[in-house]
Amino acid sequence: MFKAIIFCITLTFFIPLDGLAANNTVATIAPYDDNNIFAKILRKEAPATIVFENEYVLAFEDIHPMKPVHILVIPKGKYRSMLDFSEKASDIEITAIIRALGSIASKMNIDQDGFSIMSNSGHNGGQTVPHLHFHLLGGEKVAWEESLRKQKKG
Ligand code: 5GP
Repeated sequence: MFKAIIFCITLTFFIPLDGLAANNTVATIAPYDDNNIFAKILRKEAPATIVFENEYVLAFEDIHPMKPVHILVIPKGKYRSMLDFSEKASDIEITAIIRALGSIASKMNIDQDGFSIMSNSGHNGGQTVPHLHFHLLGGEKVAWEESLRKQKKG
């Protein structure tokens, strides 16, 4: 009996719950979760510093910025990851996000010096919020490729 209890507790720690892995990344393929934090920001139920909004796109400052400029750019539609966005989004939604990324880079004054756009999908991508988002990073050198190469060597 005691052994069974210990076994159950151990399983609770190691089995991912509802698509969540131990490091809080989320599965690429799963139903859209209306309670994710970005859905709440879209419904204006959670606060965010919004820098851009139109019919299809919302952009706001990342709560834990990795660079002087760190904006999250999201479609307003319910897309969990790049996978369902590329499969199901309309041409106008896809165009809108690309156009918005450029406009926001100019608006944030990172167009001249340059910037990086990054989007994580699923566990290996490191996605932690299950609503498709693009990180727009700038204000200083981003150099994520260099840090990946260092990790590979190290
Ligand atoms: P991911 O790891 O999924 O690529 O990126 C998720 C991003 O969302 C992270 O950079 C994280 O800092 C940001 N984030 C998480 N929760 C919130 C929040 O409540 N508000 C804002 N503005 N950003 C958030």
